[in-house]
Amino acid sequence: TTVADRLRTDRPVFSVEFMPPRDEADEALLWRAVRELEGMDPAFVSVTYGAGGSSRDRTIRTTGRMATETTLVPMAHLTAVDHSVAELRNVIGWYAAHGIRNVLALRGDPPGDPNGPWVQHPQGLNYAYELVELLRSLGDFCVGVAAFPYGHPAAADAEADIDNLLRKFDAGADFAICQLFFEPEDFLRFRDRVAARGCDKLLIPGIMPLTTPKMLAKTVELSGAPLPDRLAARLQPLAEDAKAFRAEGIDVITETSRRLLAEGVTDLHFYTFNRSKATREVVGRLGLVPARA
Ligand code: FAD
Repeated sequence: TTVADRLRTDRPVFSVEFMPPRDEADEALLWRAVRELEGMDPAFVSVTYGAGGSSRDRTIRTTGRMATETTLVPMAHLTAVDHSVAELRNVIGWYAAHGIRNVLALRGDPPGDPNGPWVQHPQGLNYAYELVELLRSLGDFCVGVAAFPYGHPAAADAEADIDNLLRKFDAGADFAICQLFFEPEDFLRFRDRVAARGCDKLLIPGIMPLTTPKMLAKTVELSGAPLPDRLAARLQPLAEDAKAFRAEGIDVITETSRRLLAEGVTDLHFYTFNRSKATREVVGRLGLVPARA
C-alpha cells in the first residue's frame, strides 16, 4: 500500500513520525508507541533518517520491521547527506526488497551544525529533487518531499523556495510534508501560494504536540519562526507548571488542528518523539479515530 492510496480518503486522517531508537530502552519505548498507535490506524508512519551510520541502520531496520511485523504503512526518510549515489541506490534497493514503497526524499541537514554550510558528497547529490528523480528511476515508489511554510532558511527568498518545491513535484514527488509552523493561517497562506502557482499536490501540515517547554523551544528552532505573542501569553506563564503547560499545549494543538481540518486539510502529521500519548489524546479529541467494527 502506498501513502498516496491511504490519503485518497473522503474523511480526514492522521499520520505519525518516529525516530530511529538510540538504544535498547529507546527501542522498547518506540515499539510500545507503535503498538499503541497501530489500533488507531494512522494513514502512515514515517521514520526519520539520521546523519550517522549506525542510526541509519536503525532507521532501515525499524522501517523494515514495521513493514513485516505490523499492519502499518511505513514510510522511510532518506537523505543525500554523506551518501554516494551508489550507496543511495543500495539503500533504495533494500527498501524495495523489503516491501517499503514509500520514501520521503530529503537533502538532509549537514552533520554537526544543522545550520552550517551544505557540503555535497563527491559522488553524491546536491538537492532533494535529484533524489526524487533517482527514486523514480529505480522503482515504483510513492515519494514525499519536505516543504517550508516560512521558507527554507537557505533559500534566496520565499518564492525561490516555492520554485524548489515545484521542481520536486515536477521530478515526481506525490506529496509534501510541511515543516512546523505556529499559526494555522501561516500554513493556509503557504498552501494558497503554492496553489496559486498552479500546483494541486497535497501539502500535509506537520504538528508538534506542545507538551513541554522543550517541545515548544524545538518548534521555534525547527520552524525558523519566533513564537507568536498570542501563544507566548498562553504558554510561557505555565513554564514552571508541567501539568498546566501540557494541558494548555494540547489545547493549542487541538485548536490549530481543528482550524486546519475546517479548511479542508485531509491529513495531520504528528511528530511523536517515539511517544504516543499526546498524539492519541489530540487525535481522539478531533474524532479522527476510524470507527472500527
Ligand atoms: P532541498 O529541497 O534540496 O532544498 C535545500 C535548499 O536548496 C533550499 O533552500 C532550496 O530552496 C534550495 N534549492 C533547491 N534546489 C535548488 C536549485 N536548483 N537551485 C538553487 N537552490 C535550490 N533531515 C534529516 O536529516 N533527516 C530526516 O529524516 C528529515 N526529515 C524531515 C522531515 C520533514 C517533514 C522536514 C520538513 C524536514 C526534514 N529534515 C530531515 C530536514 C531537511 O533535510 C532539511 O530541512 C534540509 O535542510 C532541507 O531538505 P530539503 O529536502 O527540503 O532540501
